[in-house]
Amino acid sequence: MIWSLIKVLLFVGVAAGLAYGASLIVETPGEVRLAFAGQEMSLSPLGFIVVLLVLFLAVWVLLRLVGLLVAVMRFMTGDATAITRYLDRNRERKGFDALSEALIALAAGEGRKAQAKIGQAEKLLSRPDVTRLIAAQTAEQLGNTDRALEYYKQMLSDDSTRFVGVQGLLRQKLAEGDTATAMKLAQKAFALKPKHEGTLDTLFALQAKAEDWSGARKTLAAKVRAAALPRDVGKRREAVLSLADAGAAFSEGKKDKARDAAYAANKLAPHFVPAAALAARLHAENGEARQAARIIKKAWAESPHPDLASAFAAIAPEESPEARLKRFQPLLKMKPSHPETRLVTAELSLTAEDFPGARRALGDLAETHPTTRSLALMAAIERGEGAADSVVRGWLAKALEAPRGEAWVCEACNTAHGQWAPLCESCNSFDTLSWTTPAQTEDAASGSAMLPLIVGALQAPDREPEPEEPETAAEPEPEAPEPEEAAAPRPETQGEGRRSRDVTPPPADYVDVGAEDGDVDVGKKKGGDQVAAEDSSSARAL
Ligand SMILES: [Zn+2]
Repeated sequence: MIWSLIKVLLFVGVAAGLAYGASLIVETPGEVRLAFAGQEMSLSPLGFIVVLLVLFLAVWVLLRLVGLLVAVMRFMTGDATAITRYLDRNRERKGFDALSEALIALAAGEGRKAQAKIGQAEKLLSRPDVTRLIAAQTAEQLGNTDRALEYYKQMLSDDSTRFVGVQGLLRQKLAEGDTATAMKLAQKAFALKPKHEGTLDTLFALQAKAEDWSGARKTLAAKVRAAALPRDVGKRREAVLSLADAGAAFSEGKKDKARDAAYAANKLAPHFVPAAALAARLHAENGEARQAARIIKKAWAESPHPDLASAFAAIAPEESPEARLKRFQPLLKMKPSHPETRLVTAELSLTAEDFPGARRALGDLAETHPTTRSLALMAAIERGEGAADSVVRGWLAKALEAPRGEAWVCEACNTAHGQWAPLCESCNSFDTLSWTTPAQTEDAASGSAMLPLIVGALQAPDREPEPEEPETAAEPEPEAPEPEEAAAPRPETQGEGRRSRDVTPPPADYVDVGAEDGDVDVGKKKGGDQVAAEDSSSARAL
């Protein structure tokens, strides 16, 4: 209010001042005389001021003309936009206005408006580095991927926008599922900006998915160098990659490479069970029993695991059950109350036909941790100690309904795996498998569904064997390997998995035993020795 009052007063003051000045000049007597090139000119004071103003105007026009002349000369010498630049100074202003409106519309999710405005900005501005990016993002928002792709491709030609262009194309290709092209683009982006975290993550994920383990290791190293990953996580991932590399080399028959990679993996993460088991097997295969035992003990001290037990057994494949039980003692004493220790002790005692020992080792595990494995062991112990068939059958029925126990479960999608693998079979995530109890839904259900068949088979009299039905119904697993085969080192990761599955006695085994089927198990060969069937399952496990 006061300010507008001041403005009005100021205007009145200036106008009054000018009027007064003009009247003063008009009233002042005298003249201005100009002498130039022999000519003389006399002017009234007011006339002189007018001439001065005209002179100023003429100089201004002259300067503009000189500017235009310069632009024309530049145009003649090859600068194509010089004249337009000269003529369209305010075009640029309008262009930036359109650009800012486009940005705001894009952020507000108004794709159509953003598209219109960016179209204007593109026409008015000669700044493709800026307008292309916004135009591409607008096209993406509108779902016009072809157009977005076109813009991203154009961006590749400009140094300042190349990386963004590659990123845009990479995003598009990933969305399309074209992983081969995406990998090439990610590598290009990595070459342009080796420390860009998002690029490193994308490239790593793509390499892992493509099982390009050595490429993934390089990317991982770059990520650790860029300090984008904690050192211990980097180490663990490196171990996983080494192990994956070992598995791949082994399947290609490159034994030395496999060995080096497996040892490296074990060195990086001594408590990482699959690496320890594989490294130990390879050492044992090489006749280095001491190293193999040392590796397993180190891993077992942290996390007892059936794969470690079978690798430990593989150190001396030919030994007698009694000798094996004895050799295992130092290992079993490390974590005596751990469920895995108790299960392994029970299995080894069973193999050595020490049934009271097996019962002692198992303790109350069948009640506190009822799993297929612990309950099946109970059944074997009962049978070994000469319990009635109905008791044995009771345990077996429970075993069928019980959860399967721990498995390699993906932390991302909860899929349980029979064997450890660097990638989840279901969601392809890298290093997400951990040894834990899977969420029980289907397993127990399928067990119950099979139960009538199996119990029926169990109760079927000897004269009327029904091998076909229970066989097919209860055959979720591949044929179990013979003890000799189990004892032989099987270092590839696939072998690892089979071990872990073998350790959990499959229901099919027990069906065979109960059904008194002719072609059953090793047990039958021992003629009447009912325990032997369970022996074989334990022997297979170890
Ligand atoms: Zn998964």
